[in-house]
Parts: sequence; structure tokens; C-alpha cells
Amino acid sequence: MSEECIFCKFIKEGKLEVIYENDSFVSFPDINQKVEGHSLVIPKNHFETTLDMPSTLGAELLDCIKNTSLKLMKENDAKGFNIVNNNFPVAGQVVPHVHFHILPRKKGDSSPICY
Ligand code: 5GP
Ligand code: ZN
Repeated sequence: MSEECIFCKFIKEGKLEVIYENDSFVSFPDINQKVEGHSLVIPKNHFETTLDMPSTLGAELLDCIKNTSLKLMKENDAKGFNIVNNNFPVAGQVVPHVHFHILPRKKGDSSPICY
């Protein structure tokens, strides 16, 4: 738990609109929807970037990503999804608590992903 971290604060206060959770991860809707259903998967403990997360959390991370994506595709009638993970400010990370964007995709939608 980091005192100044907004995502830690949400977890501590139980203020998240939970989509899916397991012991170590939770997912919730992003406040700024790049596409319909845009959501975030985050660890319940504070890690700044993917590099700080213990590799032993890999299975639980994948479990949360998969179950969240399946639920979002069903709810939003999407046929696919993108996973985006920005690490460090130079790569576009704004919130310094590691998070994985899940972006449900529909045919013909405007792509939120830039390379
Ligand atoms: P980043 O640019 O760090 O990869 O993405 C941070 C994400 O966190 C953004 O998509 C932003 O909309 C989301 N975000 C920032 N503040 C809040 C908040 O208070 N609530 C929720 N649900 N999402 C937030
Ligand atoms: Zn945090």
C-alpha cells in the first residue's frame, strides 16, 4: 500500500466497481473509456511497473486478465480485445501502480491503439 497511490486508495476503501477478482488482482472500469468496456486489471498490492511484480504472480495475473476479458466481450458484444500495459512515463504510464488495460474490440470501431 502506497499512501499517495489512487489505486491503492480505491482498494483500501473498497470503492471499485469490481468486474472480476482473485486473491492478488482485481479489475474495474476505466474512468476514461477509450472504447466501450475499457477496463483495468491491477494487483491488490502496490507495484509501480511490471518489472516490480514477482513472477510468481503470473498465473493469477493471467487468470484475472482472461476472466475479465471474457466477461467484457460478452457484456459488450465484442469479438476481440487488446491488452495494453504502459511502463514508465516515457511509455505513457500516468498512474504509477501497474495496470493492464483491457480494450474490448468490435469490427469497424476506431482503434485506440497507436504504434
Ligand atoms: P496509463 O496512462 O497510466 O497507462 O493509464 C492510466 C489509466 O487510469 C487511464 O486510462 C485513466 O483513465 C485511468 N484512471 C485514472 N484515474 C482513474 C480513476 O480515478 N478511476 C478509474 N476508474 N480510472 C482512472
Ligand atoms: Zn498503489
